[in-house]
Amino acid sequence: MKIPFLDLGAAYRELKPEIDTALSRVLESGWYILGPEVEAFETEWAAYCHAKHAVGLANGLDALVLALRALNVGPGDEVIVPSNTYIATWLAVSAVGAKPVPIEPNPTTHNINTKRIAAAITPQTKVLLPVHLYGQPADMDPILDIAQRHGLRVIEDAAQAHGAQYKGKRIGAHGDIVCWSFYPGKNLGALGDAGAITTNDSALAERVALLRNYGSRQKYVNKEPGVNSRLDPIQAAVLRVKLRVLDEWTERRRALASDYTLGLAESGLILPHVPDWAEPAWHLYVVRTPDRDRLQGRLSEAGISTLIHYPIPPHMQKAYADMEIIPEALPLALDLASEVLSLPIGPQLGLDRVQDIVNALKNA
Ligand SMILES: *Cc1c(COP(=O)(O)O)cnc(C)c1O
Repeated sequence: MKIPFLDLGAAYRELKPEIDTALSRVLESGWYILGPEVEAFETEWAAYCHAKHAVGLANGLDALVLALRALNVGPGDEVIVPSNTYIATWLAVSAVGAKPVPIEPNPTTHNINTKRIAAAITPQTKVLLPVHLYGQPADMDPILDIAQRHGLRVIEDAAQAHGAQYKGKRIGAHGDIVCWSFYPGKNLGALGDAGAITTNDSALAERVALLRNYGSRQKYVNKEPGVNSRLDPIQAAVLRVKLRVLDEWTERRRALASDYTLGLAESGLILPHVPDWAEPAWHLYVVRTPDRDRLQGRLSEAGISTLIHYPIPPHMQKAYADMEIIPEALPLALDLASEVLSLPIGPQLGLDRVQDIVNALKNA
C-alpha cells in the first residue's frame, strides 16, 4: 500500500482537457501579464466569496503584506496573530516592519482564542489577523466585535479556507480584507504560485491593485512605491477551471472527513472539533495525540504519508529569535507542535483509502 498525503498530479489528470484548453487559450492570446484572464478570475472569485472585489496577486504571503500596507500598517505598529499558524502569517507582519503579537489558540478548535485578544491590545495595535487554520473558520463575530470596540481593522488569513463558511456565510468578506493563497496544495490550487485578496471596500481593493503593479494603474504613472505581485494569467486561467469544481471537491473532502470522524471515534485520538456555526473547508484533517511521533512512524511503515502542521511554531523559529519569546510563553502552540498529525485528505483520495488509513491507525 502506498497512500500519498496529497496527489496533485491526479487532480490535474481529472481536469486535464479543461486545463489544457485554458492553458492554450492564454498561450494563443499573446497576453501574458494581467489582462482579461486575470480580470475574469477576479470577477468570478469575488462572486464566489460574496465579496465586492477581488485582486489577483502573485502569492498568499504578498496578499497578507499588501493587505497590511493598504491599511498603512508599518514600523511601530502591532498586529495580533495566532501563535498556532503557518509562519507566513507572522512574516507578513514583519515584512511591513510591524510587530506580530501572538495569541494562543482555543484548545478545542486550535484557532485563535478570541477570549485572549482584548488583553493583548495596546495603543500600538492596528490590526487583528485571525487565520482560518486547517480550513476551520475562526470565530469571527467576537473578533469583529473587539475590532469595532477598539477601532482596529481585521485582516483574515484565508489561505486554507476556500469555500469554508462561518454561520452560513462563506469566508471572503467578514473582515476588512481577506487574504488568499492558491499555492498548488491549497483547496483551490494553481499550477504554481498565486494569491488574491477579497474585500467589500472599494478603496482598499484599489490600493492593493495599485501596490501589486509598481504603484501604478496607468503605465509609467506611479502613485506610490509598489511592488510586482501580479497574478499570472496562466494561473488565473487554471484557477477559473478549478473554481468550477471547488464546491464538488470540497464535498469530497467533507465526506472523507466524516468517514475519518466516524472511523476514529473510539481510537483515543483527539479529533477535529467543529463548532455548530462552522462549515469547514477541510483543507487538513488534523488529529492530536501525545503518541504522535510513534504513530506517524507506524503509518509511514504501512506506506501512508502524513504531515505535521506545524512542527515548529513561529516563536520557536530562528527567524524570530530576536523577539526573545521563551518557548513556554506560548505553551499551547508548543504542545500542538509536538502532538498534531495531519492525515491524508484531498479530492482525489478515495473513501476506501480512508478506511485503509483508519485500519492502520487502529493497528498501530
Ligand atoms: C499557504 C499559506 C500562506 C502563504 O501562502 P503562499 O501562497 O505560499 O505565499 C499564508 N498563510 C497560511 C495559513 C497558509 O497556509
